[in-house]
Amino acid sequence: MNLSNLDKKTIIGRFAPSPTGPLHLGSLYTALASFLHARSQQGKWLLRIDDLDTQRNVKGATNAIFTTLDAFGLHWDDSVVYQSQCLAGYQDVLNELAKNQLIYPCRCSRKMLASTTIYNGLCRNQSILLDSPTALRIKTDSRLITFEDDLQGVMGHNLAKQHGDFILKRRDGIIAYQFTVVIDDDKQHINQIVRGVDLLTETPKQIYLQQVLGLPRPDYLHVPIIVDQHGYKLSKQTQATAVNLTRPQSIIFELLGLLKQNPPNELQYASVTELLDWAIEHWNIDYLKNLKQVTA
Ligand code: GLU
Repeated sequence: MNLSNLDKKTIIGRFAPSPTGPLHLGSLYTALASFLHARSQQGKWLLRIDDLDTQRNVKGATNAIFTTLDAFGLHWDDSVVYQSQCLAGYQDVLNELAKNQLIYPCRCSRKMLASTTIYNGLCRNQSILLDSPTALRIKTDSRLITFEDDLQGVMGHNLAKQHGDFILKRRDGIIAYQFTVVIDDDKQHINQIVRGVDLLTETPKQIYLQQVLGLPRPDYLHVPIIVDQHGYKLSKQTQATAVNLTRPQSIIFELLGLLKQNPPNELQYASVTELLDWAIEHWNIDYLKNLKQVTA
């Protein structure tokens, strides 16, 4: 038995798409990066469906995501977790935070806040009657939140100054992404988060929540986003189309190029499995250092 292997912590990464549509090249790029980063370290790779924002969910999108990941050989471990099945757990944590007076109801409308990106704490010290729906905000303070992203380097952030108290539950009752992601990553024992650099600015809030809740901090690695010829991020909003499932190997080859892994030309006609095996063996994040975007 190799004791040194037993000592090493098992890497647990994840892909956590919102079912707002089928995967496009940009979302598949992130999925592939997180898969390769975990698998290259003999880690597990889990799949979670972030399906709480019911207004944005698209019927059939979850199945389309499964089919696409399967077609591209991105097979996940364990059973899929659906955030919509975890509501009671989120509410328990909210109740705990309320008991400790760390969150408060907020009545401010979007219109009132339109002119600022930093919440001024208007509702923090008001006694608000809970007779109609309110949002719930967490109190922040001016501690410095620092972390080292494995690609983007060292980041420092003062939430009170740069953001203010932020929302954990929206006025329409939907529990906010910032909050659920922290609870679920912990519940799933995720210790490695690979996602798009567009979420880098959200990370300090999540680290703050981990600190308040006494949860461990995973490693973070924010990969570049894919932009189109005009510099716009590929997304549903910019009409990014679903990836074509007929020739997955050529798309994986293209994505490995966009991940700057320099796959050799002779792999151009290799199978999905051969390409992924090569990529797991040769995965090198240094090629992506400090990159914020790549053009498809
Ligand atoms: N569900 C989020 C999204 O699709 C990603 C969550 C995360 O990776 O932290 O944007």
